[in-house]
Amino acid sequence: MSVDFDVIVIGAGPAGYVAAIRCAQLGLKTACVDNWLNEKGEPSLGGTCLNVGCIPSKALLQSSEMFEQANNDFKNHGIKLGSVELDLKTMMARKNKVVAELTQGISALLKANKIETKTGTAKLLADKKIKITDGGNKTVISADNIIIASGSSSVQLANAPLTENLIVDSSGALAFTEVPARVGVIGAGVIGLELGSVWRRLGSEVVVLEAQDVFLPAADQQIARDAQRAFKKQGLDIRLNARLLETKISGSGKNKQVEVIYQDEKGNQSVVFDKLIVAVGRRANSEHVCDEEAELLLDERCYIHVNEKCETSQPGVYAIGDVVRGPMLAHKGSEEAMMVAELIAGKHGSINYDLIPAVIYTHPEIAWVGKTEQQLKAAGENYNVGSFPFVASGRAKAQGDTAGLVKVLSQSVTDRILGVHIMGSHASELIAQAVIAMELGASAEDIALTIFAHPSLSEALHEAALAVDNRAIHIMQKKS
Ligand code: FAD
Ligand code: NAD
Repeated sequence: MSVDFDVIVIGAGPAGYVAAIRCAQLGLKTACVDNWLNEKGEPSLGGTCLNVGCIPSKALLQSSEMFEQANNDFKNHGIKLGSVELDLKTMMARKNKVVAELTQGISALLKANKIETKTGTAKLLADKKIKITDGGNKTVISADNIIIASGSSSVQLANAPLTENLIVDSSGALAFTEVPARVGVIGAGVIGLELGSVWRRLGSEVVVLEAQDVFLPAADQQIARDAQRAFKKQGLDIRLNARLLETKISGSGKNKQVEVIYQDEKGNQSVVFDKLIVAVGRRANSEHVCDEEAELLLDERCYIHVNEKCETSQPGVYAIGDVVRGPMLAHKGSEEAMMVAELIAGKHGSINYDLIPAVIYTHPEIAWVGKTEQQLKAAGENYNVGSFPFVASGRAKAQGDTAGLVKVLSQSVTDRILGVHIMGSHASELIAQAVIAMELGASAEDIALTIFAHPSLSEALHEAALAVDNRAIHIMQKKS
């Protein structure tokens, strides 16, 4: 049976577009179908990540951080400013420009790699055929291999349904046209903390309501506790153990407000907001992407079921990124994309799921890779800990940004690094050193024996590795 393509990729997010480019590089005739349209109704490749996720949120985190520094920190460096004013329209326009340039860059890359880009909603049929619907137009194309990378969407809550410009998801929270006086956030996860930080820095009073009684349970709990304290000091009001009961809308037009009624250990509580951001996780876009006749297996949480090679229950059909199990992170999807492209081309492909770094882009940033102390304890693993606070780092002091620490966990017999946890300035960049070290099977001693430039924030990783063996220089160590 003749087919139209070697590979059809559904979705052009960081999983899909990377898969398409790598397949094309490997000489495979590739098509990529995506249905994202921007505000003007034009195709905009890059998926959630570029359009309403990683990129616009980091653009606003950067701008809002600079605003906060201009207000609070510049004077400490001897820089006097007149009154600092916020021009939110320009800030948002800058964010939109960043998004537009990057999404256009992806279109150009796909074109340069001779990938056939198709706009429309794709559905997997039987026999690796894909039906594409674009308005009234329907076409069917086929391929030897299909890669589904249809991503995820925000989870919605029945007791806080999205209401235009009042109760919003993360996309809405990236596009407020005025700084709300009071912002509520449901969910103290990554999105809640990042977007809560943006609006707090720009002047909103922000209350974050979190259902669980533990803050950031996936992070190392020492770091989580320090982070919670740091956010509280900044004015982010995080309320744990808050079970959302009901939302009530009052007022009209610009004066609309939302009352949130929740329950905590003290009983029922009520708080009124000008905007409410619902950030309670994301769910896989799995159901609409395959027809029943494709007989694709979903798992109990509605992810497309895949094995460790991202093969689905149907031969020649792969699924990658947010639509399958594992952390919903752009870099995880992109690495799965690289692996699957190599496998389709008959080459070796693999991904180390144990070493996917996680980053929360708050201030201070939080980043980690590998195991947390609580995981090691639960597994009964014997380990050593070395940590180093940024307050003892010359570079951090010179920068005027000394919050946080680096913590290295290593196996007590072999000294192999099991986890690295960082809270502090540029943690998102520093963590890459730990990922490389762990990918190469390094011991804490390997890092201790490595030369780091002075003065640099990276020296804190060096000192934390030295501290595993009680020989850090710039903090007091136990006498041996
Ligand atoms: P997506 O990026 O969701 O792309 C899927 C694409 O497929 C979309 O374009 C969609 O329109 C299209 N599509 C879906 N169904 C069909 C269909 N049937 N036919 C055709 N096209 C279809 N991750 C990080 O690693 N770092 C961050 O800093 C970060 N920040 C984030 C901030 C926010 C506010 C949000 C919401 C997410 C953030 N994420 C971050 C998560 C990250 O965006 C996702 O993990 C990543 O986008 C997933 O990539 P993907 O390619 O699997 O799916
Ligand atoms: P999340 O899973 O990180 O956090 C959701 C939080 O909401 C959890 O703490 C959960 O306990 C809480 N919650 C759930 N239901 C609730 C309820 N009814 N009331 C109160 N709290 C409730 O999800 P998210 O923050 O929405 O982010 C979604 C995904 O996007 C994540 O998987 C994340 O990895 C990804 N993302 C990553 C980054 C990054 O890498 N920096 C940034 C943003 C988003």
